[in-house]
Amino acid sequence: MAIIVQKFGGSSVANAERIQRVARRAAEAAAGGNQVAVVVSAMGDTTDDLIDLASQLNPTPPSREMDMLLSTGEQQSIALLAMALHAMGKKAISLTGAQAGYQTDGVYSRAKILKIDSQRVLDELNKGNIVIVAGFQGVGENGEITTLGRGGSDTSAVALAIALNADLCEIYTDVDGVYTADPRIIKTAWKIPEISYDEMLEMAVLGALVLQPRSVELAKQHNIPLHVRSSFNHSQGTIVKEVAPMQKDLEKELIVCGVAHDLHVLKTTIFGIPDRPGVSALIFGLLAAEGVNVDMIIQSGTREDKQDISFTCGRDEKDKVAKIAAQVVKELDAQSYLLEDNIAKISVVGAGMMTHPGVAAIMFKTLADIDCNILMIATSEIKISCIIDETKINEAAIALHKAFHLDR
Ligand code: ADP
Ligand code: ASP
Ligand code: MG
Repeated sequence: MAIIVQKFGGSSVANAERIQRVARRAAEAAAGGNQVAVVVSAMGDTTDDLIDLASQLNPTPPSREMDMLLSTGEQQSIALLAMALHAMGKKAISLTGAQAGYQTDGVYSRAKILKIDSQRVLDELNKGNIVIVAGFQGVGENGEITTLGRGGSDTSAVALAIALNADLCEIYTDVDGVYTADPRIIKTAWKIPEISYDEMLEMAVLGALVLQPRSVELAKQHNIPLHVRSSFNHSQGTIVKEVAPMQKDLEKELIVCGVAHDLHVLKTTIFGIPDRPGVSALIFGLLAAEGVNVDMIIQSGTREDKQDISFTCGRDEKDKVAKIAAQVVKELDAQSYLLEDNIAKISVVGAGMMTHPGVAAIMFKTLADIDCNILMIATSEIKISCIIDETKINEAAIALHKAFHLDR
């Protein structure tokens, strides 16, 4: 008997009718003679609504209480889905993250799964139940409820598939699969039939929110293929796996497999820092100590023993970064600092660029042609990212999609 893990995102369980649809989908898989574990997210915009509600009561809510609050979103969906299955005469049981054995570290709001003790889930599967597990949550060593960061139900599902040694892990969402760009913005984007873990990881990190980056990392480590597909139809979605021979051919043709964009970027510049050893260590040490995840860094050339340092991180770190920047200016007797959140990151991704020179040149020319100024650049073997003005992001994504022959 095969074990299947199915994950349904927020929009797939947004109302009663959609929950019934998900129930039918899980029941279908069970009727095919499989053991089925279902991981669900909170209904629709519940998580955003809860965050908004909390901020009305406290602008900086304690992270413990935030996790306590946000985990309730997923608890609603698991119970409702179990009820829907019962109404269809199916055996089903809902389990919270803690009940399903998700043990995490103690870092609230972005906990990492350390281990899943899957015995309870296995027992329930063996009793003939469809087991419905709350995504996005676990329990820390101290017994405290933790959450896994936005989009964390993807990671819950992949981790469960690993723990159960599942035969299949399906990620059901509101689009038909992984596209060459966000299909909601680029109408000429098309569904990629197969994508490698590395390319998917870059796309996810660079803003293609269809999978949480951590879920892709886990799937790669354990070599578990993922099937990303729509919960609204039965069409074949995208398989995320090690590169298949067919995909290699595709890469020869298409140097770039996708365009990703991220509006969630904050750029910080500290001006007039004394040019001496230990300065960067101090700045980035302070940021690390506060858990700020720094992305791009630029250090300008020295003039009169002074230099400027710019870096980017997530916009939600604004308060922390402002405090640190002010402290740095004071401690180092630097000139001033500036925080900019009217910028965004546009990236092209593709394993093909490892063997094809000139990708950066095409990217920069394309941006120049639409009169788009580049503020920062970062590259890896399989991606090039530019920080640009936020207002240019859609135009840039459309132009790059075309320039790299991705339009269909
Ligand atoms: P879920 O609630 O199912 O987890 P998400 O909203 O987290 O769904 O992720 C799905 C969304 O990701 C899509 O609605 C789409 O707008 C967005 N997205 C961004 N880039 C891509 C891409 N390259 N391919 C597919 N979807 C993308
Ligand atoms: N409900 C959580 C969120 O909105 C987790 C998830 O959907 O994966 O981020
Ligand atoms: Mg998601």
